[in-house]
Amino acid sequence: MTEWTPSIDLLQEREDAEWLRVEREFCGRLLAYAHRRVGDHQASEDIVQETLLGAVRGIDDFDRKFTFEQYLFGICRNRTIDHMRRRKARTIQVGEDDDGFPGMEALATQSETPSAIVRGRELGDRAQELLGQILHDWVEETWEQGEFLRLCVIEALFSGGWRNRDTWKRFRLRDETAVAGIKFRALRRLRQLSAVRESGNDLLRFLALAEEGDQRILDLDVRKVWREQRISCPARHWLARLAGGTLPEGPTMFVRFHLDEMKCPWCTANYDDLTNADRQAELMILLEKVQESTKRVLHSKKLPAKPETDESGAES
Ligand SMILES: [Zn+2]
Repeated sequence: MTEWTPSIDLLQEREDAEWLRVEREFCGRLLAYAHRRVGDHQASEDIVQETLLGAVRGIDDFDRKFTFEQYLFGICRNRTIDHMRRRKARTIQVGEDDDGFPGMEALATQSETPSAIVRGRELGDRAQELLGQILHDWVEETWEQGEFLRLCVIEALFSGGWRNRDTWKRFRLRDETAVAGIKFRALRRLRQLSAVRESGNDLLRFLALAEEGDQRILDLDVRKVWREQRISCPARHWLARLAGGTLPEGPTMFVRFHLDEMKCPWCTANYDDLTNADRQAELMILLEKVQESTKRVLHSKKLPAKPETDESGAES
């Protein structure tokens, strides 16, 4: 699951080359995300440009708990919502945008960094972080075992908030107790994983309650962590294989479920980007604009500590 991720240190040092690469890598998916929501091409481009400027400005406060893509998408989402609020006639779409990713709602508040998403939860900071880690571990292990049906079921329950009954029908399982069984085994495994990570009592107590059937626990924290931390989001190369038709049946079942029924907005943006090869020319023009505007900000804030040696030689 290798995908290029920028060095946050270099970005914070305002290295042109690293920022250029960020723009090349992420422009397309940001544009796809914005375009799906605002429809209008010019507005989408403006949003992308504002997003990358916001990313440059906010990079010193980057919270390393999150991935860089989460950071960028968080800003992009804010800019998109700002735009839609300004364009009042289409306010209905703001509601649609909440399509099941309520956790990211908090990103719509003023803050530029994803740290704002930690609020109003039941678990403490540390326990929530650990919950994210063990859920990641669980997804990875389940993926490696090729248990994609199990992964779909748990995603439906944990992230979609589906009831056992609907889940059973959707996946044509034997009956409702089959769903309950899958859930029970997953929770037990999560408890084992958290014990290995020496998480302390907070999380263990919490998982024990969930195991005893306290649905509220799943509804609140697990759902939030699952979505905010993109627990089950496949790496981009899996989406590329899906787009290219070379993804095996098992992962295809899960990834399609994740896109079509869980409606993950971030994976959808990546998928749109990957399947829009004909938009490359447009993208190149946008990229130039974006690079020009971010470069200005980069240089205006650059500390005079070391001499400039970037390829363009431009200093403003
Ligand atoms: Zn996703």
